[in-house]
Amino acid sequence: METPSSAAEPMLWSGWGDPAKARELPSSVRKLLRDLLGVTDPESAAASFGEVRLPISALPAPVMTRLSTLVGDEHVRCDEDARIRHTRGKSTPDLLRMRAGDGDDAPDAVVLPGSHSEILDLLKLCAEHRVAVVPFGGGTSVVGGLVASRGNFTGVIALDLARLNRVLSVDKVSMIAEFEPGLRAPQAEQILARHDLTLGHFPQSYEYATLGGFAAARSSGQASAGYGRFDDMVVGLTVATPRGTLEFGRAPKSAAGPDLRQVILGSEGAFGVITALQLRVRTAPRSKVYEGWRFESFAAGQVAMRRIAQEGPLPTVLRLADETESMIGLSRPAELGTLAEAGCLMITGFEGSEDDVAHRREAVAALLSELGGTYRGTEPGERWEEGRYSAPYLRDSLLAAGATVETLETAGFWSDLPRLYDAVRLALRATLDDPLVMCHVSHVYATGASLYFTVVAAQDEDPLAQWEHAKRAVNKAIVLTGGTISHHHGVGRDHRTAYASEIGDLGVEILRAIKGRLDPYGILNPGVLIP
Ligand SMILES: Cc1cc2nc3c(=O)[nH]c(=O)nc-3n(C[C@H](O)[C@H](O)[C@H](O)COP(=O)(O)OP(=O)(O)OC[C@H]3O[C@@H](n4cnc5c(N)ncnc54)[C@H](O)[C@@H]3O)c2cc1C
Repeated sequence: METPSSAAEPMLWSGWGDPAKARELPSSVRKLLRDLLGVTDPESAAASFGEVRLPISALPAPVMTRLSTLVGDEHVRCDEDARIRHTRGKSTPDLLRMRAGDGDDAPDAVVLPGSHSEILDLLKLCAEHRVAVVPFGGGTSVVGGLVASRGNFTGVIALDLARLNRVLSVDKVSMIAEFEPGLRAPQAEQILARHDLTLGHFPQSYEYATLGGFAAARSSGQASAGYGRFDDMVVGLTVATPRGTLEFGRAPKSAAGPDLRQVILGSEGAFGVITALQLRVRTAPRSKVYEGWRFESFAAGQVAMRRIAQEGPLPTVLRLADETESMIGLSRPAELGTLAEAGCLMITGFEGSEDDVAHRREAVAALLSELGGTYRGTEPGERWEEGRYSAPYLRDSLLAAGATVETLETAGFWSDLPRLYDAVRLALRATLDDPLVMCHVSHVYATGASLYFTVVAAQDEDPLAQWEHAKRAVNKAIVLTGGTISHHHGVGRDHRTAYASEIGDLGVEILRAIKGRLDPYGILNPGVLIP
């Protein structure tokens, strides 16, 4: 068994990430906000920690006593610091609420269990006393996945999995490692590196998100073309439910009935708590090359992506920015508005052995050149790689400057992609005043791809209502155009209605039936996922 060498640092409570990496808005961005979007509001400060309004902690005393007996006094926290840091996730509406000092959704207590059996006992206790339980990984949900509906529950606890942070075993013959769910991605990679291994899962939330959260929300990393989505990596799962333990995954593939791992992947804490994961691992890459290609248009770049996805070999990273995103180049904010170069930027990244990288680079380059791509060297790829986790830090400064910035994503089949792209942009333009809408193709498959949008608009007097209006319109547009309501962020609270349309009445019935069996009192993440 191995543990991380250092404890995970807490995230900025009212914004994203490591407080030391907070970014100032370059003057060129300020100018662009003013000229392009009419953002003229003076800088608005976020509420201070002490100004956050928290409801009184409502857990009955006997429940508190029994929780303390179960996990130890020091692992049951009702202090303001713990409660504020476990209030909601990190979507833009979540941040706007925290910035306004709104702590209404804070849990009554934060409980940090130390084992699977403690979680089983805790779930029984909470079912008995009708206490809602919100499994909490890295707290990076952007779909409202960490807010329980209080309903008639006697209280709400955040079940923080941070103490379950060990690598339990590494099997270099089968190339499988077993992890506890509370390990953050960098901690997992740090331990795997000791074995010359990697998971290859690098979402933009990499610095803070946990392995359990990736499985619970069906995450997809930026290198999914090479390493696959997170759900592709899951070989086995152990889950604690109010009814007992589930264990799935005893062979690489099986014809023994439906694959019940799929019921847990994407279940967002509503069916049980993932307490261990067996994941496929890879040899750490010897060689890494990132480069850039230019295409005349988004359409031409998409044709090239599709051909690569269908004919192979695939790069490890494959992304294509539309004209607006290519021009704005968010990874280079100092140059906003000055990039004269038109066209669309594609990033291709290759990781693996020297031979494998050389072979795939050559084949991909031949196909991209044949399909109209112009090679731009390694500089754009290296710049992308260097800045891959930095954009979320800019969001905090933009919010403070009076601009709303949010991201959203969907996926569809190749033949539907242009309609999906148009429909989402139209919905945003119809509901926001002259927004800046950027998009890139973020993950590719033989049959289709996902579209990832970033939108920036001047805040009106009620930015929360303003965004909710736009988001409703986008959800509707995605449903009507036949895309999925989420390719990798999940359902949470924000996508429940659209999810119901996507799976139909019978699909909703099945979900409710599973929930009823595993969690008869509905204590697990009430209000999340299940329509
Ligand atoms: C800036 C930013 C960038 C992002 N980029 C990406 C990206 O590139 N790709 C991507 O896929 N996502 C991305 N996300 C979304 C988010 O990081 C993912 O959804 C991630 O999977 C959540 O992991 P987490 O550990 O933070 O989970 P949390 O946010 O803590 O939880 C997510 C959901 O899973 C449940 N849950 C958590 N742990 C468990 C468990 N052990 N058992 C059962 N249920 C559990 C929670 O109750 C909640 O409903 C991004 C988010 C942000 C804020």
